[in-house]
Amino acid sequence: MNFVFYLHDEKSSENIERRLLWFKKHYNLVSSQEIYSYYYEGLKLYNSCHLTIDDGWLSTYQVVFPLLKKHKIPVTIFVSPEVCLNKLNFWYYDIKKFSENDFKQYLVCEGYFKEGVEKYPLELILKELEIDEVYSCIRKYAFIHHIDLSERGFVNIEEVKEMSDSGLVEIGAHTMIHPILAAENKKRSEYEIVQSVNNLATLIDKPVTSFAYPNGLWMDDFGQREMEFANKAGIKLAYSVQPGVLNIKKSPLAIPRVGQEKRLKLGRLGLILPSLHNQRKPRNLIKSLKL
Ligand SMILES: [Zn+2]
Repeated sequence: MNFVFYLHDEKSSENIERRLLWFKKHYNLVSSQEIYSYYYEGLKLYNSCHLTIDDGWLSTYQVVFPLLKKHKIPVTIFVSPEVCLNKLNFWYYDIKKFSENDFKQYLVCEGYFKEGVEKYPLELILKELEIDEVYSCIRKYAFIHHIDLSERGFVNIEEVKEMSDSGLVEIGAHTMIHPILAAENKKRSEYEIVQSVNNLATLIDKPVTSFAYPNGLWMDDFGQREMEFANKAGIKLAYSVQPGVLNIKKSPLAIPRVGQEKRLKLGRLGLILPSLHNQRKPRNLIKSLKL
């Protein structure tokens, strides 16, 4: 049983070190190169896990990276060049500074959604807007309410380069500014994928052949169209967050990943059980309230 696991914002050094050591004890922690060899060169894997970290949180550099070096653990880290270069924060980081209910009211008042949308989680509501609308609403709302969004939550390009040069970290692309690709038009979706791969390769001065789809759910967040754009951009390994095990017969441009250790404790079944947090139903209902 071989699989890929994803981590996010890991703020506690003690907690993540304990988890990393648990992984190291139970699995062969393989590198991105070994995942590549599995798909393209016939490498056999046994009881292997590849660890990945999405988004390039500041904690990834400050908390996790020192532990990866200490315990010699290979990972792939997915970052967005626009965020690293321009010291932007992803939208879901900015909205943590807002009053959720007030911001939902604002979205209704501004004519983005009909009344009734307020009962859904803000993060899901924003996933049904195009990314330019999301950032525009956030900036306007922050301006009106004098909310400071300048505090940096993600890694900068120097930190990305340092991690890339460590020999333990494969840097993968994660679009320019984290849109829900399925909610964008074809041109924008292609731009977000291809441009992020090209920009990142220039910035780290290495080819970029790994990619993670933002939010990562098949059909809700990406589809065949995005897999084709990834292929066009020269991506060899693209990751979703659909649960599952590595399977040589399936496409390396929609590699499943799991993100909860409790699934691993159930063995193979835990790895393939569908997600309990199905976003499709609420997101379809939100979509029906869009103006
Ligand atoms: Zn992400």
